[in-house]
Amino acid sequence: MTATTQADVTEPAMAAGTMTAAWLDTHRHFLIDLDGTLMREGVPLAGAARMLERLRGRHVVVSNNSTDTAETLAGRLRAAGMSVAADIMVLAGQATVDLVARLHAGKRILMIGSAVLRAYAAARGCVLVEDGAEVVLLALDQDFRYATLRAAVNAVRRGAPMIVSNPDTSHPGADGGLVPEIGTLMHAIVECAGVAPALVVGKPEPALFVEGLRRLGARAADTLVIGDNPLTDALGAARLGMHCLLVGAHPRADAATPEALMQLRHAGHAHFAAQTYGRVDAFSIA
Ligand SMILES: [Mg+2]
Repeated sequence: MTATTQADVTEPAMAAGTMTAAWLDTHRHFLIDLDGTLMREGVPLAGAARMLERLRGRHVVVSNNSTDTAETLAGRLRAAGMSVAADIMVLAGQATVDLVARLHAGKRILMIGSAVLRAYAAARGCVLVEDGAEVVLLALDQDFRYATLRAAVNAVRRGAPMIVSNPDTSHPGADGGLVPEIGTLMHAIVECAGVAPALVVGKPEPALFVEGLRRLGARAADTLVIGDNPLTDALGAARLGMHCLLVGAHPRADAATPEALMQLRHAGHAHFAAQTYGRVDAFSIA
C-alpha cells in the first residue's frame, strides 16, 4: 500500500481566473521534473495535470528517469491519467544512450540498464557486450548481478570510460524505505576500480536542462525550473542561472503539491538562484 491517498490526487474544482500565481506569467518557459513533482509512485499529484495544461506549449518535462524511453513513459503516464507528449520529455537514461550511440559508435559497450533501454540502445546501433567492453554505460538495472559489477569494474580499470545516467543514490519507496538507485552502483564501481566516471548525464549536470531549453527554443534567463529535489533540480537550475520552485515535503519547498504551487501568490518567490549555489552544493552530492 502506498502512502499516497485518494485525497492527494483529488483536484477540487477551481474557477477559471483564480490561478493567478505570479510565477505562471513572470517566466516564459518551464522545465518540469516528473517523479516527486508531478507524480509519486505512479500516481499524479494534486493539480499536476492542470498545471501542465496551464503551461501548455511552454514546458518540457526533464527527468532523471533511467528505465524508460519517452515513448514508453508517455504510455504509462497516459494510463495514469496524465497527458505528456513524448517529444516534450527529456529523460536521463534515453539521453545517455543517445550520447553513447553518437560518441562511441561501433565500440563494444557493457550496458547496465532496463530491458526497454537495452532494446532502445540496440535499435540505435549500439554493440552490447558482456565482456571486453570499451565503454561502460550505467543506467538502472533492477536485476543487477554481482558478475556484472565485476565486469564493469574491470572494464573501467582497463580504461573504458564509464558514462552514468544519473547520480542519485536512492529514492523513497512506497513502504517508507529507500530504493537504491544508480548512484549507489556508481559508487561501488568507483570504489573498487579507483576510477571516476567519465561523464554523468542526469541532473544536476547541465545536459538534460540544456536539451530542454533547446527543444523550447528558450533562454535560461526566461525559464523557471519546477522540481522537488534541491540536489538535482535546484542545484542543476542554479548552475545554469535559472530559478527553481520546489514542491513536496522538503523544508525549503514552496508548496506541497502543484495545486498549492499554482495558488502561490508571491511574485519572485522562486529561490535557489545562482548566488545560493554554494550553499546548496555544500550538502554534497558526492
Ligand atoms: Mg523528482
